[in-house]
Amino acid sequence: MKKGFIDSQKLKISFSILNSLVILLVVSTLSFFFLKYDKNLMEDFYKENCTNLTNGYAQTIDAFLFNYTDTVNALTPFDIADLDEKQIHKRLLSYPKEKINQDFECIYYINRDNKAYASDGSILELSSYSFINEIFFEGKTYTISDPFISPRTGNYIIVFAKGIFNKDGAPRGVLCASVNLQTFHHKIANLKSTESETISIIDTTGSFILHPKADMMFKKYTPADEEFSKYSTDYLSRSQSGCIETVNFNNERVTLVYQTMEATGWTLCVSVARNNFDSFYYDFLKKLILITVITMIVLLGIEIYIMDVFQKKQLLATNFDPLTNFYSRVHFEKESEKVIKHYPNSKFMLIECDIHGFKFINQNYGVEPANKLLIFIADKIRNFTKDMNACVGRGFADHFYIFCKIDSVHASMKVFKEYCAQLNNDIKNYEIPCFMKYGIAFSMTKDKEKNVSITELIGQASFAKSTLKDNLINQYAIYNSKLLEKVNRERYIETHMEQALQNNEFFVMYQPKIDLHSDSIVGAEALVRWYNPEQGLITPDEFIPLFERNGFIKKLDFFVYDKVFHFLDSQVRNNRRVVTISVNMSRNHSKPEKFVHDFMNLFKNYSIPRNLIEVELIERSFMNENTLKEFTELLHKEGFTVAMDDFGSGESSLNMLTQIPVDVLKFDRTFLLSSTTENGIIDQTSANFLETLIKLSKTLNKQTIFEGVETESQRDFLKSINCDQVQGFFYSKPLTESDFTKLMEGK
Ligand code: C2E
Ligand code: MG
Ligand code: MG
Repeated sequence: MKKGFIDSQKLKISFSILNSLVILLVVSTLSFFFLKYDKNLMEDFYKENCTNLTNGYAQTIDAFLFNYTDTVNALTPFDIADLDEKQIHKRLLSYPKEKINQDFECIYYINRDNKAYASDGSILELSSYSFINEIFFEGKTYTISDPFISPRTGNYIIVFAKGIFNKDGAPRGVLCASVNLQTFHHKIANLKSTESETISIIDTTGSFILHPKADMMFKKYTPADEEFSKYSTDYLSRSQSGCIETVNFNNERVTLVYQTMEATGWTLCVSVARNNFDSFYYDFLKKLILITVITMIVLLGIEIYIMDVFQKKQLLATNFDPLTNFYSRVHFEKESEKVIKHYPNSKFMLIECDIHGFKFINQNYGVEPANKLLIFIADKIRNFTKDMNACVGRGFADHFYIFCKIDSVHASMKVFKEYCAQLNNDIKNYEIPCFMKYGIAFSMTKDKEKNVSITELIGQASFAKSTLKDNLINQYAIYNSKLLEKVNRERYIETHMEQALQNNEFFVMYQPKIDLHSDSIVGAEALVRWYNPEQGLITPDEFIPLFERNGFIKKLDFFVYDKVFHFLDSQVRNNRRVVTISVNMSRNHSKPEKFVHDFMNLFKNYSIPRNLIEVELIERSFMNENTLKEFTELLHKEGFTVAMDDFGSGESSLNMLTQIPVDVLKFDRTFLLSSTTENGIIDQTSANFLETLIKLSKTLNKQTIFEGVETESQRDFLKSINCDQVQGFFYSKPLTESDFTKLMEGK
């Protein structure tokens, strides 16, 4: 039991771990497949990231450019419209460009004749540049040029220009600053967040004005791969924005995000190598799986910890019964085993008890009063065991267990009986009437090896208790091996009785009754016997009490009546000598009318004079005298005589002699047994008493018969006090039908 209990706890934990591992496996697998198959989602997410990045770059570059334009604008706080060109040039020379913006290479004033006055003092004759035309002819106030070669330095420059207007609004000149393209490149190179990105810019004509490879500068590009050839720099410069898969100048697969910039109309392109996405994706995947696994392991740990705490609490909770505070059944066994181990060569006593009909009490009085009763009984048990150093436990419902080491069976039974008497007394004053049943088992062996286990002891006590069944006379039963044999035998009888009746294994024997005056046979008693092919002869002592308990006796009685009627009928038909045969009526028959009705139904099948039948009634504690009276009167009505069997053995009162109109008083065998001394003589006091009884019976007009007459002196004594008849081994044991017939025939 103990073992099983612990195993089941272990099993629970193992199941929990297994359960968590399965969940872990399922979740990880699902996440893996979800991510693997939802790569598109990831890709969209990745592209969005790239687009945002590009957008950020574009805004930053625009901010640089606008900043240059703003600075040029700030160069004209003076009203240069009022100045002539020489004066303007002079002014320009007084503004050192490094104080204005470090990135400015040179500042120019360009007049309507495309004559440029540079801040370094030089004067240039310019050809027609589109940024000049935009101000002079297209009405723009500000503009930024595409990169071109500076006629002054021969380097690529970008020009930030602002128109100078007359009071009437007509353009009169352009103030502008040049920034070396290399300077611009440096600024943008600093923007890059990772090495895997490539930033390039395409101008409005579709040529690269920024590219990591110098030989691509100021060139257009169309991918060689046919699949992507439409994504030429021309196409990109014409489109607003987008994110595409294409190939770069090295023919590597890339994700390319492009966007037109506000300040210049140039197109910013950011390309990221395709394998970057893959590693980004797998990095993400790895991190996700790692997080999932760690989370699950943490959860598993928490679960195991909680289970552990729960299990400890559970064990604690199951150690004690909350209602009575006794040990739980499992803990009781554990503690009792400890006691057995601690006192190896000792005697032990185990008591198992319950309340008779507790189920009924529970149903009729309700759970709460029933629980109160359990507490009441538990208190009594606690009192009883307080000096015994006993283990006390409560099992299912009303089952209590007491286990203790004892010095002697006799002494412990004495204490137990005192306790029983005390408890019975206390129960009488308790609001719910009840009756306790006890099964007791002893462990007596001094040989340690042979000591029975606590589980066996419980089994034995429980078995002993079960033999009490509904018996309300015995309150306890002690287990011994004979009890087990007896119960097994009873089980055998119960399972075979019906079949035995059908197989005619029951038969009737006849014991003669002798008239003491004439010394002749005047009657016989029909006594049933059972011959079982497997078990041999089974005596009524064994099976009649059992059949009375299980009710089978009623059937058997009628079987015997039938056999007796049949025997008498054939004797009468064959003109043989017949005497009155008495049949026994068991105490189970409780309805006089039904019994007599069934009796007559059977009797009518035969032609037997009614005076040849006598019915022996038996006293019964639970039936009132009126019922016995009714049985007697109804049988009398049908013409049968009635005897009171075993008179004086039970609770019969002399009063009954006058109440029940039986014809014969059949005195119980115990009368003679208790009256006969060791040397076979009837003692004087008993003799006087029996003589008075016979006289009294005669006065009441009753025939008298003594059963169990075994000796001549008993017979002589009975004859001397005027007893009418005797039945006993002195004359004859019960005889088989044929032996009885022979005896009657005088053979
Ligand atoms: P009972 O009706 O009082 O039967 C008398 C019993 O005393 C018989 O035991 C008989 O064999 C026994 N007996 C007779 N003379 C002597 C004697 O000198 N010394 C001793 N020691 N015993 C003597 P049996 O046949 O074993 O029956 C026992 C009881 O079983 C009967 O007691 C009766 O109560 C019951 N019984 C027997 N047959 C039937 C039956 O057919 N129906 C019913 N209902 N009960 C029966
Ligand atoms: Mg009898
Ligand atoms: Mg009798």
